[in-house]
Amino acid sequence: MDVSDQVGVTGRCYCGARRFSTEGLPSAVAYCHCADCRRVTGAPVAAFAAFPESAVRFAPDDGRSVGVTPGVRRSFCPDCGSPLTGRYDYLPGMIYVPLGLIDQAGWLPPTLHAHAGQCLPWLRIDDGLERVDSSARGRLGG
Ligand SMILES: [Zn+2]
Ligand SMILES: [Zn+2]
Repeated sequence: MDVSDQVGVTGRCYCGARRFSTEGLPSAVAYCHCADCRRVTGAPVAAFAAFPESAVRFAPDDGRSVGVTPGVRRSFCPDCGSPLTGRYDYLPGMIYVPLGLIDQAGWLPPTLHAHAGQCLPWLRIDDGLERVDSSARGRLGG
């Protein structure tokens, strides 16, 4: 194991009752403009970081799991309601954590916009990043 294997990130929910740390940096960081992510986060656009499920440790756990959209499980802190994770059947073995929970978010710039076709019409982000209308599963898997 070299030094880069030991680098990870840390984070917590709004109230701090749920914390996590990772082994390694995210395999991808992306914006998501889908309507589900808007509702989950309450923000006009979501951003999340992708990790292999085995690389993320939650303390004491990853909250309460909620399934609304078929094939998608999301979890939330039962105390404050912060979204903690998303898991997608079509991206097995991966876990998606809202970027805003991560203490080191300032060092983890997104590299693409997923579901760009659902972007709110008044939202302008002129960052030159790749925009895909799909979930970008090929880019966001493990
Ligand atoms: Zn909380
Ligand atoms: Zn989304």
